[in-house]
Amino acid sequence: MSDEALFVNDIIEATRDGIIKAYQCTECNEMGVSVQALCKQCGNNKLNIKEISNVGKVVTYTIQTVAPDPFVNEVPYAWVIVELEDKIRITGWIPFISSKEQLSIGQKVKLVKSYKPGMVFEKLSE
Ligand SMILES: [Zn+2]
Repeated sequence: MSDEALFVNDIIEATRDGIIKAYQCTECNEMGVSVQALCKQCGNNKLNIKEISNVGKVVTYTIQTVAPDPFVNEVPYAWVIVELEDKIRITGWIPFISSKEQLSIGQKVKLVKSYKPGMVFEKLSE
């Protein structure tokens, strides 16, 4: 396996434990969670991987009542974009959300341990 594939596996494994890992550029400290070989900011190819905060806020979301295959048994749920405390935005979902009264923009959320697909978040009380 390539180093990149190992990185990706590492990130996915961590996600299942409720841990978010990000790439960080060794030159300019730019961080990201997408699969990449080069720093998007400066093009440096030396990237470290590090654990970052798994807490963030909901930036936007849509409630899904009809879902693609991996999520077919999970509806309804909220498909969310979360801005983490490190200012990185990631996409995930929150189970058991069926109406807008159940989730506000700006809601504090945390990645939880899960063997379900994707990144599963839960609401945190302030
Ligand atoms: Zn960089």
